[in-house]
Amino acid sequence: MSQSKSLVLILGDQLDLQGAALQGFNFETDEIIMFESTHEGQYVWSHKAKVALFLSAMRHFAQALTDLKYPLVYIKESRLSITDNLKEYIQKKGIKHLVCVEPGEYRLKIALEMLAHELDLQLDMREDNHFYCTHQEFIEWVANKKELRLEYFYRLMRKTHQILVDADGNPEGGQWNFDQDNRKSYPKKGPGIIDKPLSFPHDDITAEVMDYVRKAYSDHPGSLDAFDWPVTREQALRALEYFVEYRLRNFGVYQDAMWTDTPFGWHSILSSSMNLKLLNPREVVNAVLIAWKKYSLDLSTVEGFIRQILGWREFVRGMYYLDMPQMAQDNYYQHANPLPSWYWTGATDMACMKDAIGQTLQYGYAHHIQRLMVTGNFALLAEVLPTVVCDWYLAIYVDAIEWVELPNTAGMALFANGGRFTSKPYIASGAYIKRMSNYCNGCRYKPDVRFGENACPVTTLYWNFLIKHRDQFEASPRTRLMTANLKRISDDDQKAITVHAQKILSNLDAL
Ligand SMILES: Cc1cc2nc3c(=O)[nH]c(=O)nc-3n(C[C@H](O)[C@H](O)[C@H](O)COP(=O)(O)OP(=O)(O)OC[C@H]3O[C@@H](n4cnc5c(N)ncnc54)[C@H](O)[C@@H]3O)c2cc1C
Ligand code: SF4
Repeated sequence: MSQSKSLVLILGDQLDLQGAALQGFNFETDEIIMFESTHEGQYVWSHKAKVALFLSAMRHFAQALTDLKYPLVYIKESRLSITDNLKEYIQKKGIKHLVCVEPGEYRLKIALEMLAHELDLQLDMREDNHFYCTHQEFIEWVANKKELRLEYFYRLMRKTHQILVDADGNPEGGQWNFDQDNRKSYPKKGPGIIDKPLSFPHDDITAEVMDYVRKAYSDHPGSLDAFDWPVTREQALRALEYFVEYRLRNFGVYQDAMWTDTPFGWHSILSSSMNLKLLNPREVVNAVLIAWKKYSLDLSTVEGFIRQILGWREFVRGMYYLDMPQMAQDNYYQHANPLPSWYWTGATDMACMKDAIGQTLQYGYAHHIQRLMVTGNFALLAEVLPTVVCDWYLAIYVDAIEWVELPNTAGMALFANGGRFTSKPYIASGAYIKRMSNYCNGCRYKPDVRFGENACPVTTLYWNFLIKHRDQFEASPRTRLMTANLKRISDDDQKAITVHAQKILSNLDAL
């Protein structure tokens, strides 16, 4: 029986030979198509390293497909959008059947569905097999919940997938969550020697991509000088092996710690590989479970790491598809300030922001607490319009794809959806940054000064935020303690804080 031809679309973050798009591929009739679209790198002002990582990983994947004799059409450096490219090709070839995996961006998912409708195509959009939880399972979990909280979802994932649970379904070590053990700062003298992440020398493909990006994206932010990301599955597997052997042991305890010139800490730096699908999260979790026994690691570090992947990563993905397109528009506090221009340059006197943004521009990377409690915290306290903050995060991190970036930025960092899946806004004053880092030592501001010339802008804006939203914070037992501290500040000082905050807010670029 002759079969009709299917066109299989593989997107730049779907680089897995075992991915759902290639399942059932017919070498006789089917064809794969991949596009490099400059539009994708330009609709937000993407970091050069992000563009280079995607292009290099895509070209390496195309090479792997060709080596395996897959029929592949690879369109390089096209100025058209993915859907315009696709439309042109489908019309030229008279394609009737399109196969793809659900895109990690709602915008593109809808655009593909509309294209299929317009061209009367049979669209076989498959669920991504790089997640533990399907959309249906997530919807079922949500159905009977009053509150959507990570903790209960995470427990369900642990039980369903039999990870860190005993035969009776009880958590390993008698508790589900060792978060309390995972919040230490580095010792006073600093982090000491941290095993460096594995390095990946550039081959010809990466070198060519980097030359291209330097020219074609010369006005984009960030640098390529430190570009050292895994661009193939083989490299990503080596990065994973290296992480579990050398770096995992201290991941848990110092997960939240920050220190100048310590861009990666003990973190895994595996997000870009997982998000491009060079690695499957199941492989990552299994490798961690094996390392736990092999190197006699602490359960707290193992649980702390697995929670990020089996818990947070799955949870935010579920929330993204559940809440889009609304999630991209939410603005609970009606914030409207522009993003300070120094988010794109790091040129600010605030040492914490300078370091977190500086390393971001250098590597396209900052770890979770830098994203949440430094740049994210400041953007919330500075009342910046959520959509411009989200665009910045999407542009600037090599691991940023909307399904994971948006819920983290809008939902977690900015409380833009009014606490749909978080119990309170994640806000902190300079005191938190002082406790978790050495940034304040080298700063011209003083973390404990609330107003006046030397006042730390994070601290001023923190108290200003509490004063402004006092009613909201007092209404919840989770946040009442924060406003209780406000009562210890005299009325005069509160007025001075508000005045100083207005001055800061009216000219954020001056900081
Ligand atoms: C404002 C903001 C924006 C973020 N944007 C992104 C993004 O665009 N892409 C992205 O992958 N992560 C994002 N995160 C989550 C987290 O910061 C990164 O996954 C992490 O810093 C990546 O570094 P790592 O691989 O060294 O992670 P590790 O600290 O080693 O953690 C291990 C893995 O757990 C997963 N993980 C950890 N925290 C989260 C989380 N909150 N949500 C989803 N997965 C998580 C990641 O896959 C990560 O690789 C964001 C967090 C915040 C607060
Ligand atoms: S004093 Fe304030 S601005 Fe300076 S590093 Fe500390 S927290 Fe950041």
